[in-house]
Amino acid sequence: MSIERFDIRTHSRNCAVDITAKVAEAVGKVTADDGIAVIYVPHTTAGITVNEGADPDVMRDVLTFLEKQVPQSGDYRHAEGNSDSHIKASLVGASTTVLISAGRLLLGTWQKIFFMEFDGPRDRHFFVKIISS
Ligand code: ZN
Repeated sequence: MSIERFDIRTHSRNCAVDITAKVAEAVGKVTADDGIAVIYVPHTTAGITVNEGADPDVMRDVLTFLEKQVPQSGDYRHAEGNSDSHIKASLVGASTTVLISAGRLLLGTWQKIFFMEFDGPRDRHFFVKIISS
């Protein structure tokens, strides 16, 4: 089974991009069965998370919290000057797994899948691997 690649463009240094429709598209192409979707980001300053998509203030609050806890300047040594981006990427994680039931993502009513940008704006990509049974 193949791995699907999606290219996206982010528009600010820190932002949450709803990628649920793209992941659902990958699921629809591959399976009508039960299984899992692994969503993976091959970047060191971005992440993937599942959270509320109904009220945009939720992801605004998550980003504001992370920016406050991990400020852009601090006691960092990394010469590239984006240590906060790397730290936030580690806190969020580079992948997530979502269950698939009867060919559809088994997300809760309010859940969406978000690409978490911590060093934008940039051209980015992520991968979706579907494993069905
Ligand atoms: Zn760096």
